Amino acid sequence: MRIDVVSIFPEYLQALDISLIGKARREGLLDVRVHDLREHTHDRHRTVDDTPYGGGAGMVMKPEPWAAALGSIAGTGDHRPLLLVPSPAGDVFTQAMAAELSTREHLVFACGRYEGIDERVYDFAAEHYEVRPVSLGDYVLNGGEVAVLAMVEAIGRLVPGVVGNPESLIEESHSDGLLEYPVYTKPASWGGREVPEVLLNGNHGKIARARRLWQLERTAQRRPDLIRALDPATLNRHDRDALWHAGFMIEDGRIVDKPVGPTEE
Ligand code: SAM
Repeated sequence: MRIDVVSIFPEYLQALDISLIGKARREGLLDVRVHDLREHTHDRHRTVDDTPYGGGAGMVMKPEPWAAALGSIAGTGDHRPLLLVPSPAGDVFTQAMAAELSTREHLVFACGRYEGIDERVYDFAAEHYEVRPVSLGDYVLNGGEVAVLAMVEAIGRLVPGVVGNPESLIEESHSDGLLEYPVYTKPASWGGREVPEVLLNGNHGKIARARRLWQLERTAQRRPDLIRALDPATLNRHDRDALWHAGFMIEDGRIVDKPVGPTEE
């Protein structure tokens, strides 16, 4: 997979040289190219921002350097790459989105700074790219670089070969709409705290059932919104029992909160 990142702080992206993503780059699984937006300016001060039309606080990124940078990257291939623009006003980045993006051939990221990028750049980019604004979450960062680091890591680790044992990707949080079960390692007894007995008996059927129950309980407690979004058709009898005890029921083909009071068992 090829990944281009445009930023006024290319050094921010040096973290992509480290750990599994760095190794994947060295092995040629990920071809990550970081571009300095200021290379596409033509004035002495290498200016990339200016005051906003209509007034208001802050600065806005100028269209010309962005057009030059994005035009030069798009022009290097015979396909239409996907341009991901980190923005708190974008679609929220999820594991499902990471999985979809991990199958793409070429991703380009445009890191905004200041109050963001002149809106006309999006129109220009749409002539060369499929454009998608993407948010890391409902909060505001100073720039797109941190969002790109998170997204490249989440996407890159799903590219075949990047994570050594692909099985470790299967039961992770969000891979099946639930949070992961709690995990333990040696020693079995530590400071008076014990590893759950079921994990020590080697019965893989029992371990799988216990872990599924823990997943449902943990998700119900921490992220009830994820439980409500589950498809009831994917739940077996044990799952339904667990959700009932966690405060949910199935009604009209949907998972809803169990009313408290008379129907409580
Ligand atoms: N004025 C913008 C707004 O209110 O939507 C926020 C600009 S923010 C200070 C500067 C840059 O940080 C954005 O252009 C974007 O690239 C990045 N950014 C900020 N929050 C983000 C988030 N939640 N997800 C992804 N990128 C974000």
